[in-house]
Amino acid sequence: MKECNSVTVTTLIDNDIWKGGLASTWGLSLYVKMDVEHRRHVILMDTSGSFETLSKNTSELGVDLSAVEAIFISHWHGDHCGSLSHVLPLLKQSTPVYVPSENTFGIRDIKQSGGAPRVCSESIEFMEGAMSTGDLGGEHSLFVNVRDKGLVILTGCAHPGIINIVRRARKVSGVPKVYAVIGGFHISGIHEGRRVGEFLDKIGVELVSPCHCTGADSRNAIADIMGERCVRNGSGRIFSF
Ligand SMILES: [Zn+2]
Ligand SMILES: [Zn+2]
Repeated sequence: MKECNSVTVTTLIDNDIWKGGLASTWGLSLYVKMDVEHRRHVILMDTSGSFETLSKNTSELGVDLSAVEAIFISHWHGDHCGSLSHVLPLLKQSTPVYVPSENTFGIRDIKQSGGAPRVCSESIEFMEGAMSTGDLGGEHSLFVNVRDKGLVILTGCAHPGIINIVRRARKVSGVPKVYAVIGGFHISGIHEGRRVGEFLDKIGVELVSPCHCTGADSRNAIADIMGERCVRNGSGRIFSF
């Protein structure tokens, strides 16, 4: 896959708040800006279920939604795609929406709102420098390969399991080095957290930010293993790689 010179991930919405003045809701939305060669690409990953929260946070952060070239929907849960039909009319006609699987109502809504659904059954470099893992049981994850760093993997809820997702991204990209993993990990207990933390530590991940649907016990267990490499997320947090 093509390398990015740099990528910036802005958390527009998470269950928690990072920056004062922003709002939170149960859901996730990430604004991904990447520089590939001399071009800039902007992807919106997930929209959360609350357009009101999304509008408030984008205006507080000065984020321009109209710059979004493509939307990436991790999976068909309302807390990830619920406000899609409000976002699409703000974008140019036929903006591609990368989804993990067929979904009669979801696909219909995208078309009715002016978007162009693209089902990512298999892994694909859907934009230069950005890949989908391909469908893993109803969810796919977005990742980029940052020069001299490695993969930056973004997950929605990680229903297929964060370890499986990371393995898949490494396999389909052929890039073994994983620099960062950010998103919902969908685990809750200490034991699961420890298992994930040990795996990420073993493969040399340098930044992990379990958020959204990751339970507190799991986060703490990951932080115990990863130390300062485990960082909090929340609405308004900006990661630059
Ligand atoms: Zn979720
Ligand atoms: Zn979910």
